[in-house]
Amino acid sequence: MINNPTEEVNRVLQQAHVAFLSYKNFSGKQKAAFLRAIADEIEALGAELVSTAMRETNLPEARIINERGRTTGHCRMFADLVEEGSWVEARVDTALPNRIPAPKPDMRKMLVPIGPVVVFGAANFPLAYSTAGGDTASALAAGCPVIVKAHPAHLETSKLVAAAIEKAAAKTGMPQGVFQHVHGEGFEIGQALVKHPFTKAVGFTGSLVGGKALFDLANQRPEPIPVFAEMSSINPVILLPETLSRDAAKTASQLAGSITLGVGQFCTNPGLIIAIDDAALASFIATLVTEIEKSLPGTMLHQGIADNYAKRLTQTLAQKGVKAEGQSANGNAAQGTPLVASVAAETFLQNPTLSEEVFGPFSLIVKCKDTNELHQVITKSHGQLTATIIGDEAEISKHKVLINMLIEKAGRLIINGVPTGVEVCPAQMHGGPYPATTDSRFTAVGTDAIKRFVRPVTFQNFPESLLPTELKTENPLGIWRLFNNEQKK
Ligand code: NAP
Repeated sequence: MINNPTEEVNRVLQQAHVAFLSYKNFSGKQKAAFLRAIADEIEALGAELVSTAMRETNLPEARIINERGRTTGHCRMFADLVEEGSWVEARVDTALPNRIPAPKPDMRKMLVPIGPVVVFGAANFPLAYSTAGGDTASALAAGCPVIVKAHPAHLETSKLVAAAIEKAAAKTGMPQGVFQHVHGEGFEIGQALVKHPFTKAVGFTGSLVGGKALFDLANQRPEPIPVFAEMSSINPVILLPETLSRDAAKTASQLAGSITLGVGQFCTNPGLIIAIDDAALASFIATLVTEIEKSLPGTMLHQGIADNYAKRLTQTLAQKGVKAEGQSANGNAAQGTPLVASVAAETFLQNPTLSEEVFGPFSLIVKCKDTNELHQVITKSHGQLTATIIGDEAEISKHKVLINMLIEKAGRLIINGVPTGVEVCPAQMHGGPYPATTDSRFTAVGTDAIKRFVRPVTFQNFPESLLPTELKTENPLGIWRLFNNEQKK
């Protein structure tokens, strides 16, 4: 617990700054050993980690075990990435001294770590997006020291994981301060961490209000820094009419499962369903309502999230033209009640409140008169993490324009699936235009997440002996580089 936030934040960032001076030069092999040791130490926490996370978050055992596997998995994935080495994107443009009219200098470029990174743990992923989450693992892989601001909703879980990381750092000879864990009441500490001149980037997962506040704060600094905030997404699902007329019941069951999964507390929860208002949609709604009525209310992550869900639900249902179609039995004050509602597209288009995230097991069905109106709804929608089309290949081929429209709106496009379930792999894009994130060019999941915490540097006319190992002509690391003179090494 912090008594004097300014003093403590200053001490922590001083330490991170000193750690960076050596850690940035650690080899891929050394960083890989550290990341693998983190995974091992998290596993060594055993049942204590699982029971603590369950107690603090109300999430079931299977979910926590799954999340632990995902966390250790991404630590090992980044270990493999940095050990192999080509992630630095080395470009080698050798000199052309006889080029006319002017000689070309020797130019070599690679990615280097940006500096100490502050990570705000997420409420809804106590392991995979928190203390040893994707932001921490990718920043450490890049060569950046990390300071985690623990989420108060799962502080004990966070402390256990932090101790595991510190143990791994000591075992693998990492510099003091390569990883630090801070916690305390109120926004003061988080804001002081973002404002500190030694902080060079921020990773955040949480609310739009919180993410935007920290983004604005970072931009008001004398030296602005990037904030990679993942905030708000309602993940539209578009149902194409011909396919829906054949598969209404199956599609409804699939979507009901996705809406209620984890009491709807996923950033990829399908919060908006868009379709043409016809008989197939009526049949889809009937099955969806049956499925939602059969589902059970679930205890949410913390009381603040439950209160927020109840408030946003009441607010949404009070909007003109919104009809509650069906809900599960009412839960208690700590629980989230699954509910689906509908609204005419014309009304939806006129009311911006209906485009805002309702974080929990809720989805709004937007009924469109025709394809033109459906296009208007998509055009008007905000940036999203995902967008889904339910339709067979032949029908989607007649609606290719939809794909183009959705590319502008979302980071991941899905055909005939559900948006929940985020694969951790190199091709993953977990990000999207604002307000889904503050920077649509980057992903928070998968190997490319490392790119948030690096910047390119060119070394011009450097003698071989002074070049970073990755850029030397003789390539001792054996990594792949892009050469100008048709040589690939
Ligand atoms: P949050 O309120 O945004 O808090 C996340 C973290 O950021 C916490 O550590 C919080 O500090 C800190 N923070 C927030 N605003 C700040 C500010 N102005 N200055 C400094 N620090 C600040 O998110 P949450 O508690 O996890 O969840 C609240 C709501 O966020 C949910 O109901 C939901 O609507 C949304 N949410 C969305 C997603 C998503 O992926 N889309 C995920 C999680 C939550 P404190 O610990 O001091 O509060």
